[in-house]
Amino acid sequence: MDRHVLKHSFTLRRTHDWMCPTCGKAPLRIREDSFVKEEQSSSRDHSDEEWQPEWIRYVYSCMLVCSNVQCKEVVASSGTGSVDWHVEEDMNGVPQQVHEDHFRPKFFQPHLQIFQIPEACPCSVAKPLENSFALFFAAPDAAIASVHTAMKALLGEMMLPRFVAPSGERRSINLHQSIALLDPKYAHLKDVILAIKWLADDGSQDEGVSVSIDDVMDAYELTEKILEEVYAPKLPTTLMPMTP
Ligand SMILES: [Zn+2]
Repeated sequence: MDRHVLKHSFTLRRTHDWMCPTCGKAPLRIREDSFVKEEQSSSRDHSDEEWQPEWIRYVYSCMLVCSNVQCKEVVASSGTGSVDWHVEEDMNGVPQQVHEDHFRPKFFQPHLQIFQIPEACPCSVAKPLENSFALFFAAPDAAIASVHTAMKALLGEMMLPRFVAPSGERRSINLHQSIALLDPKYAHLKDVILAIKWLADDGSQDEGVSVSIDDVMDAYELTEKILEEVYAPKLPTTLMPMTP
């Protein structure tokens, strides 16, 4: 997971290497002439004496194409933009203030595969994670709530009793109780699952607490680690095939 690519804005001179969600082998490139930007109505009035280019707000849309010639997947993207400045030296080496458009994606369709979900991961866990990836750029709060859903499904898949029946009645138990009942062979993952729970709780339950993209990426990194351990464990060195 490339946190820089996921977090920072891009310019048309320096686009990001968004990895193709279909082949996973090559970056997407913006298709020439497909990029369209328009200034939003709220920033079109430039008559104020103190007006600065930094007040500009855009929306954009474009088509991306996978640079792998065997794939050539097409992905639509849209988002927002603004103007920022930096200092460049001109031909005479004199520093100049240069304004440049910066853009932030809100959507990709199909969505980016932010980390690889192991093939053996059951659909009940993978599906909410895919939903989370689709919401990542536009709604971090919803994206992290979907990670929480995936964690609950994961605990269920790990043969945990999501329902207990002390008096013959079925009643649900919460994620925290499920973690406490985790199979001892997964005991080393308890802290990681709890960390994801805390991240998700901040976003899904505490009103007024907004989830940042960093929070979601933290949850993704922890989730990726758990899924690798449970569904794609690395073979111990002693079991690795011998090479001649
Ligand atoms: Zn591709």
